[in-house]
Amino acid sequence: MSQSKICKRCNLPVIENADQYEVFENMHWLCFHLEFEHEGDPDAACGDPSCPWWHIAALKGKLVELGFDPQQVLLEATKEKWNR
Ligand SMILES: [Zn+2]
Ligand SMILES: [Zn+2]
Repeated sequence: MSQSKICKRCNLPVIENADQYEVFENMHWLCFHLEFEHEGDPDAACGDPSCPWWHIAALKGKLVELGFDPQQVLLEATKEKWNR
């Protein structure tokens, strides 16, 4: 049985990136990003290339470029996943 790894920032178990627990200083990858790399409002993209908000913005930009409405894409995906 693997012993559980607990994030020192939020106290929740680290599962997804458990193999990189030490690399991220005993935290979730996202907690590590917010603690050491993310600057400013956590709800907005920061200047770090690994920022998940920046990734979302880049993907949204590409969708628009390809002629899709990101909002509509999310609505359709939500409908598909949760039948709402
Ligand atoms: Zn955490
Ligand atoms: Zn960030």
